[in-house]
Amino acid sequence: MDEEKIAKLRADLLHRLSNWGDYSTLDVSYGLIPEAYGGGELDAEHLEYEWLDTKTKELAMSRAAAQNRDFNQVLNEVEIKVSLHLAIIMEPAIAATTVVTVDEDGHVCGVCQEEMERGDEARAMDCMHAFHHDCILQWLHRKNTCPLCRHVMLHKQIQSHV
Ligand SMILES: [Zn+2]
Ligand SMILES: [Zn+2]
Repeated sequence: MDEEKIAKLRADLLHRLSNWGDYSTLDVSYGLIPEAYGGGELDAEHLEYEWLDTKTKELAMSRAAAQNRDFNQVLNEVEIKVSLHLAIIMEPAIAATTVVTVDEDGHVCGVCQEEMERGDEARAMDCMHAFHHDCILQWLHRKNTCPLCRHVMLHKQIQSHV
């Protein structure tokens, strides 16, 4: 398993996690609350995330051994490559957002409803609403509107590559 494969599986996982979001209170039209949904799926996703983490470490370990190099250094390189592949897979969503820094206390991410820290890196949409990086990527994987103001992203059709 190489970086590209790990990135593909991770993108697939993110995609499924965003589908899970269809059953959350984010979408009132479904009329379901997360408690009613159980939460078993989330555990499965969590395990899969850890499994991918293990696969990433295994890849770094075998490469470090083969090249007689420091494990942590190789792991760092592998993680960067996985992130780059992931960015390419999810490019339409990334291309439509900009990186911003949270400049005020008490800013709440409109996707997960959790408070963000001043100085955190966030991603903003055209309407300048900012969210956690992962939160907005998951959101944009299935919708092309801002979770807060329903601003429609016009430039690209957001589509799944997985
Ligand atoms: Zn968030
Ligand atoms: Zn907005």
